[in-house]
Amino acid sequence: MTKIVTVLGSTGSIGVQTLDVARMHGIKVAALTANRQIDLLERQVREFHPVVAAVRDELAASRLKAALADTDTMVLSGEEGILAAARQAEADTVVNAIVGVAGLLPTLEAVRAGKQLALANKETLVAGGAVVKEAVRRYGVKLYPVDSEHSAIFQCLQGCPSGALKKVILTASGGAFYGKTKQALANVTVEQALRHPNWSMGAKITIDSATLMNKGLEVIEASWLFDVSDENIDVLVHRESIIHSMIQLQDNSVIAQLGVADMRIPIQYALTYPERLPSPVKELDLAEIAALTFDRPDMDTFECLAICREALRQGGLLPAIANAANEAAVQLFLEGKITFLQIPALVGRAVGQSSCAHEAVTLDNILAADRETRQRILQQ
Ligand code: NAD
Ligand code: MG
Repeated sequence: MTKIVTVLGSTGSIGVQTLDVARMHGIKVAALTANRQIDLLERQVREFHPVVAAVRDELAASRLKAALADTDTMVLSGEEGILAAARQAEADTVVNAIVGVAGLLPTLEAVRAGKQLALANKETLVAGGAVVKEAVRRYGVKLYPVDSEHSAIFQCLQGCPSGALKKVILTASGGAFYGKTKQALANVTVEQALRHPNWSMGAKITIDSATLMNKGLEVIEASWLFDVSDENIDVLVHRESIIHSMIQLQDNSVIAQLGVADMRIPIQYALTYPERLPSPVKELDLAEIAALTFDRPDMDTFECLAICREALRQGGLLPAIANAANEAAVQLFLEGKITFLQIPALVGRAVGQSSCAHEAVTLDNILAADRETRQRILQQ
């Protein structure tokens, strides 16, 4: 393939799988970035020979620079280094696989540089949807979803005339604690929350799956990607993670996308659209699976989903505030400083008490709301 990609967050779960796809199809790599995992980044640089490698952490960057002194790859550092990677001239497509709102500015940088965007970083759209959509329109770039649910919807929509879509139906695995009561959730451990039934992912999104915050973020992500409002986005618990999401059309016909749960399908589709190439993912054997099950989400026990829906309905800066509160709360939970149920409590309080919810949705206001919300929770 003649495609040349930059992978932001190449050392993470999505980043590594993106490089699997690149390896399989001979896709060239212009730039790679990481927060501080330089051992893996060094191996990736030696295999893919990018023009640039950028590391957010300054100390780690200087160590990588020394380690790569015998190569032609230029090592950059800090936030500016990540942004330079995002606009790296050789790339036609940027895969954003950074976790958290740290991916927002790199997304905008890539769009302004005219890159096609394969977006895994859902927090970009949750916090900055309005700003990103406007930039995508202004710079005339294409935005391809990588999140499996949104890729499924995007795949189902191929060939649908505009106006045909009635609603989208996001499927949810239910996470590590499906079926549990609130009382049972009071004492769950970090280790239990990190045990996802169907997917192996980064720590933050795995905790988000356990709280159903991930599905709440995905409802907001879907609203920006497919121009649908809260009442036209259903969430359906589907424990097997075989149907990755569905669309319902005006005539109530429902179209679903199915496959073995493996992110390399949505990653590859975002890179090869509209082509369909062979993939390393196993064939789906429905006879072996035998049954697919469905259930409504328990929004009383898993409050984050309801909080995100409320933030979406009210709009403004509230989705950015909900996201920031969650990022800070998940960090505290992973550090063992708060309990599992304090995550929804902190997110709910941040949304409920926000004083800047109705300020104009500009990039500066989004970043300020993010910073203030995060600091308030981390400093308490
Ligand atoms: P991860 O934690 O495994 O990897 C995150 C990557 O981002 C790493 O390369 C890390 O070095 C880099 N990074 C972290 N903080 C950074 C910062 N402040 N600045 C620059 N780089 C930073 O995460 P992941 O599971 O691969 O998820 C990445 C994104 O994709 C998230 O937004 C997640 O919600 C989304 N996503 C992931 C999956 C999955 O299967 N893992 C599925 C759907 C969507
Ligand atoms: Mg998803």
